[in-house]
Amino acid sequence: MGKNKMLPFGIFIWGIFLIFGLTRPIVAQNSAAIAQDSAVAQDSDPVHALRGHRVFEPLPAGAVKPSGWLRDWALAAKNGYTAVMDDVDPEFTRAWTADFSPTCPVGDWGHGSWSYEGGGYWFDGLVRLAYQLEDKELLAMVSRRLAPVLEHATPEGIGHFYWLNRKNESDLSSVRPDYGWGLWASGLYGRAMITYYGASGDERALRAMQCADDSSDIGCITIAGLGSPPNNAINACEDYARSGDTGVAETLTRFFEHRDVEWQSLWEPYRTPPVDALWCGEKHYPEDWVMRFHGVFLNETLAGWAAGTLWTGRPEFLETAVAWQKLMDEKCLQPYGALVEDELYGPTGAYRCTETCTLAAELWRRIQMFTMTGVGEDADRVERLFFNAGAGTTTRDFTQHVYFQQPNRISPNSFIYSWGNKTNCTFRRKHYPLCCTAGVNRILPTYIQYQWMKTSDQGLAAILYAPNRLDTTVRGTRVSIDSTTDYPFQETVTMSLTLDQSTAFPILLRIPQWCKNPTVTLNHEKINLTTEERPFLRIERTWNTGDTIVLNFPMEPRLEQGIDRNAKSVTMPTGGAWGKGSVLGQFANTELSGVPCASISLGPLLFALPIPEENGDENKPVHDAAWQYALDPNHALDAVTVERSDVPHPWAWPREAPIQLRVQACSAQWTHDTEFPRLPKADEMEIGASRTISLIPYGCAKLRVSMFPVAEQPSPSTITENEPAPAADAAHPESDVASPDRDTGK
Ligand SMILES: [Zn+2]
Repeated sequence: MGKNKMLPFGIFIWGIFLIFGLTRPIVAQNSAAIAQDSAVAQDSDPVHALRGHRVFEPLPAGAVKPSGWLRDWALAAKNGYTAVMDDVDPEFTRAWTADFSPTCPVGDWGHGSWSYEGGGYWFDGLVRLAYQLEDKELLAMVSRRLAPVLEHATPEGIGHFYWLNRKNESDLSSVRPDYGWGLWASGLYGRAMITYYGASGDERALRAMQCADDSSDIGCITIAGLGSPPNNAINACEDYARSGDTGVAETLTRFFEHRDVEWQSLWEPYRTPPVDALWCGEKHYPEDWVMRFHGVFLNETLAGWAAGTLWTGRPEFLETAVAWQKLMDEKCLQPYGALVEDELYGPTGAYRCTETCTLAAELWRRIQMFTMTGVGEDADRVERLFFNAGAGTTTRDFTQHVYFQQPNRISPNSFIYSWGNKTNCTFRRKHYPLCCTAGVNRILPTYIQYQWMKTSDQGLAAILYAPNRLDTTVRGTRVSIDSTTDYPFQETVTMSLTLDQSTAFPILLRIPQWCKNPTVTLNHEKINLTTEERPFLRIERTWNTGDTIVLNFPMEPRLEQGIDRNAKSVTMPTGGAWGKGSVLGQFANTELSGVPCASISLGPLLFALPIPEENGDENKPVHDAAWQYALDPNHALDAVTVERSDVPHPWAWPREAPIQLRVQACSAQWTHDTEFPRLPKADEMEIGASRTISLIPYGCAKLRVSMFPVAEQPSPSTITENEPAPAADAAHPESDVASPDRDTGK
């Protein structure tokens, strides 16, 4: 396939795409200018069309820059980890350096794999953050750390391992395509390289990508990663879209179109999500279900298969990934917005966990899939994941992280899944293996980059909200949009436009599904919003400097009920995390499996009861702290108040949170078994009086309860307004944090 033989546009009818029409999404513009070490993000739009297309086209790293509280948090991420990874562990010091080039086997733990995987995750975050913060120190680090591959990439290499030779059998076998750890790590690194190219326009990066992604002469092995699913396919599509490289095209076509027996064996496990096989009542779980899949692995895999639609134009790949997403959202979604992925998938639960590197992968995978589906609710989910689970991964100063986070963190080392180390829920400088220590670098920059995207008709779309500044080019005009806001802690987002010249184009604004009565004004005039404007309000006009859009998303407290199906501790299935083993029987029905629970949210934020910290130590709950409460779903929000104060700067997810909910709860005696933690059923609790408790955003509560057991409140005669709190009052430690004088919302 030659560079000039463009792929024909397939007929790609995907219902929601109709919203935006089936027009060609990308119009060839100027190819990227070379701007090495420049902090100015280039609009290096893809110029070679794929058969499938994205509903929304991502902008390069640096086009969106964080401001306000988001910038404070991003600086904490930089200073806490991204800029100092060399000091965190020697594996990072040697990652992808010129004098560290293991030959055999690249793929094994203990033979360099952590340096390569960890480097891949870290650089992915590093490149994005460097351009987003326009940070000279980080930009210099990008240049230095990417230099070995930029300078030595060769078509003879394997993936980004330029020092291996694909004509050498022992080198080929050292990446072990059947297992593929090395190729997996190379794929993660490739993401950093593509991001760097998009932001810098450095042509050496494009060449390095072409060298790595063209493996048509060796059986397209570089598409496949760990365990062989196509975790590098998105890289290769992005590469082709920019380079038009015929070898990369042939590699992708061979992988997605040739469909030999080996390919079928890769595709078959994913082709149909095991919907029917899942959750057959509560009695037992069939062997073949989602819980046998590994967290990072499945996220990367689904993004890879979805890329099959980008390449071939056939909807089946994306449809399959969407079906898996739907299934997992139904069964495994935690109230903090991420899936139960404590190595393996599992049912929603107060003491089940999400691994930090998996959370980063899930955030990226959800965004990748959103760009292809354009479903607004998927963007709502991204916000929920980022504002809650994203904030749950680290200490306030961003110098320590958890390997696993859980909805109820009553003690720092108690979780239900017995894989891994008991300290996995403890904040530490690093955890082994180093996947999460590396992956934590990705979370903020990933969210920041995709807050704005381009539409298929050369307009702009506000996808994810938080304070930022957008600088880009639309229809040949430089456009900047400042989004000033303390969202999600406040309800209003003000967007101010600056343009080189007046220009007509559409701006799409995402209206969150949870918001019942949104209002939007344009230059002080209210825009009539009907339900048809959801999830995206489209404003098409000639824009001028000084134009101002004000979005107001009133937030109403919501109580969401669910079932915690984790009654027993589980053990690692036989056969390894991604092997053929199963957790059959581990969740088998017991009298206890299926405990009703409830959580409270406001807008995209989950709220939690904070447990006081001993001397501000986020790993030490105050002895005898009271956290034993239950919620009555019928009355918890009867007299709910929302209390807001100014968002403090620098922002660090403070315990003294700028937004608090006061809700009704029952004191309820239940115990926390650190070995086998579980929520109690209603008849296992001694229910006391109803009282008011204060909840704060999940991310501000480093020790907390956010999934409450459910109980009916005692009759009104037993309600005592002034009943002393049991032991230390978890809701109001020390002085009462919620002054009655504060602004009171609804
Ligand atoms: Zn990890």
